[in-house]
Amino acid sequence: MARKPSVLLYFHNRSSMKKNLLAAALAFNAPLAFCLGPYAQLEQAAGPRAAAPAPEPRLPGAFDHLAADTRYWVTVAAEDKFDRTALLAAGLDIAEIREGFVSGLIEKTAMEQLAAKGFFVKSRQPIRDYAKNHLKDFPAADAPYHNYAETLEELRALAAANPAETSLFSLGKTVQGRDIWCLRINPAEKGEAPSARPAAFFMGNHHGREHLSNEVALGVAAYLLERKTDPEIRRYLDTLDIYVAPMTNPDGAEYDLQTGKYRWHRKNARVNPDKSIGVDLNRNYDSRWCQAGASHSPGADTYCGPYAFSEPETLAVKAFIETRPGLRTLMSYHSYSSLLLYPWAGKSTPVESARDRKVFETMAKAMAAATGYRPQQASDLYVATGDTMDWAYEKRGVFAFTTELEGTTFYPGAAMIGKAVPRNVKAAMYMLSVTEDPYKLAQ
Ligand SMILES: [Zn+2]
Repeated sequence: MARKPSVLLYFHNRSSMKKNLLAAALAFNAPLAFCLGPYAQLEQAAGPRAAAPAPEPRLPGAFDHLAADTRYWVTVAAEDKFDRTALLAAGLDIAEIREGFVSGLIEKTAMEQLAAKGFFVKSRQPIRDYAKNHLKDFPAADAPYHNYAETLEELRALAAANPAETSLFSLGKTVQGRDIWCLRINPAEKGEAPSARPAAFFMGNHHGREHLSNEVALGVAAYLLERKTDPEIRRYLDTLDIYVAPMTNPDGAEYDLQTGKYRWHRKNARVNPDKSIGVDLNRNYDSRWCQAGASHSPGADTYCGPYAFSEPETLAVKAFIETRPGLRTLMSYHSYSSLLLYPWAGKSTPVESARDRKVFETMAKAMAAATGYRPQQASDLYVATGDTMDWAYEKRGVFAFTTELEGTTFYPGAAMIGKAVPRNVKAAMYMLSVTEDPYKLAQ
């Protein structure tokens, strides 16, 4: 009879499993289409437990940490993007969109006001009950994911193994004083030194619970460095300035994991005046700030903050982007929905410049083809102002995109890493292939 590893054993094995993953990730030389290899090996290495279905989550007390959480998972009737935009402003954090309905998390008090605002709530359940049925794994079994310390360890390992090509620096500090680490891949310039080269910027984990987005950004960096002698990759390293900041919101990601059980936390770790936790960083940028699809209510998951750029995390990104005049392309990874999104998010009208629109549409289509995701203007889902993408394009002319990774939950399990990383690496390579002059696509 196979021995069933205990949760404790998984915690104990966590760091050695991670080293295996790193070694596997760095060792893979297979063509891109076969990148699943190392991840499959990891799954096997983790033993019968990892290959088995998700563990029985209904352990006594397993969801008690959510008992005091006042959020509900609701399904609400919504006909179009205007309904969805109004729901975001009412404090609903839309996670799923289906014909005629949306679902997501909302604070109890905001939920109780929905009917008065003309919305029909089809179903609702406390987050604790929802979590019981929508969690693929516990943090212990999700050990292949990198927390903050492990992300830094991996970035340092990549930098140490590739000293000629890389440097590691901090974009700035978070509310709780953590560094927002950024790996620069550029043999000619190191750290924050300026560069005349065209630049590309990959970002993950703006939202705490979207841990898969950290893995994808790390995967992009690992892939580039593993394949640095390939002629195509070498050309990127010799002509471009590439930045990877896998964990933009380390406080939020850590807060989500702190208790050893997922807290479904989206925002940063700011303590608001009403004692609620967090500002939605992807609503805090100064592009039509908080005009639509965001909430002024601190308890809401879509809380835009007291003013634009009120948070050190978004300020750090702003300062970085503003001092990179060569920045041409940007990808911000989120989860989940399998979408490749381009501006505008904050307006329902298309990008005004026909030339720019052509570039956005061409790039989105190509990256969607690589990932199997759907390309579309972000506001076709709903209008949401103050995100990274709109700000970077509006203020700096950067061809900025948002990828909503695949999956049907924020916690899709460790096996999803091996699926999402290779196809998004492929899209990232496409982005690099056009970064030198994206306008060539408009010719
Ligand atoms: Zn997100």
